[in-house]
Amino acid sequence: MIPYSTQSINESDIRAVARALRSRALTQGPEVIAFEKAVARYCGARYAVAFASGTAALHGAYAAAGIGKDDEILTSPLTFAATANAALYLGARPVFADIDATTGSIDPNVVAKKINKRTKAIVAVDYAGLPADLASLKRLARKHKIAFIEDAAQSLGASYRGTKVGSLADMTMFSFHPVKSITTGEGGIITTNNRRYYKQLLLFRHHGIAKGEQVRAKGKPAWYQEMQILGYNYRLTDIQAALGRSQMSRLNSFIKKRRTLAARYERALRKHPELILPIEPKDRSSAWHIYPIRLSPELAKKRDALFAKLRVDGIGVQAHHVPVYLHPYYRALGYKKGASPVTEAYFNAELSLPLFPDLTKKQQDFVIQRLAYHLKSL
Ligand SMILES: *Cc1c(COP(=O)(O)O)cnc(C)c1O
Repeated sequence: MIPYSTQSINESDIRAVARALRSRALTQGPEVIAFEKAVARYCGARYAVAFASGTAALHGAYAAAGIGKDDEILTSPLTFAATANAALYLGARPVFADIDATTGSIDPNVVAKKINKRTKAIVAVDYAGLPADLASLKRLARKHKIAFIEDAAQSLGASYRGTKVGSLADMTMFSFHPVKSITTGEGGIITTNNRRYYKQLLLFRHHGIAKGEQVRAKGKPAWYQEMQILGYNYRLTDIQAALGRSQMSRLNSFIKKRRTLAARYERALRKHPELILPIEPKDRSSAWHIYPIRLSPELAKKRDALFAKLRVDGIGVQAHHVPVYLHPYYRALGYKKGASPVTEAYFNAELSLPLFPDLTKKQQDFVIQRLAYHLKSL
């Protein structure tokens, strides 16, 4: 089966992990700090705090932004559940704003209508690796004096108006799950330019315990530690960070390959009127996390049939993402079907084609050829 996405690991990645295993520190050591520096430098952000997963990183970011019981965050329903789940962890309520179907990201006009006095943050999601409408969303957040957080799990390496994603929001989250731009197995990070958020993130990742210069009590001996908030053990290991740093050195080549493959799909598939292809607005450069095609409205109900035929061919197509509020857990919380009609229509017509750095042209041609074949008989 050709997967919809997978990691790219080479010998230098393996050597980096082996070196970390032979070193003194397997966790809380120099590799984590070096990896954080590499990501911060790449994105042009002042600070970066690595976490055990992207989800843990989001949990930390929401907590640092002061999101708590009965607060609301405004986010996209067309995302992986974790974006909203992290708000539930804190007793807050995710409110979903419908998307703009041309980009797959939240529509700032819808967001503006849903902001109220309980709203504590706007959480933009860079669907498929394409930066959301960041300038408009940030302007809204500033106007209402609330935090602007970017779930960039899918968009490390993307840019918006010439600036790399990672320094544009108050806090930006990247994920290092194997299907994302780079991998550490599991892992995530928050980048920020805000020193107060940075300090809170460090505390949250390590049980809420402060040491050294961070303690509030005066004149204490060197062993002294104090727990200031309820935190978690959300640390990334040095073994993972070593892999992450090696992968960072390959990131630009990964993005280049993804972009070349996306352009090949575009050239091959634009002649099919049955398909709606993903677009890249002129002010953005996508990290092409996935290649999300949609069937035209008349054919949308054939999506699952097409999906099944491609799977029989050994092509690991996927569908991204089940609108979060349609999951049974969210339905049980009272969220209603039909609430974001643009998102639901988008998802029902969507199919993600295989796209990852090591996908060969031969494999891609096979995907294109089988897709064209099945379209004729839909
Ligand atoms: C992958 C992903 C996450 C979760 O990241 P993990 O590292 O798997 O915890 C959150 N949001 C989006 C949009 C994602 O794609």
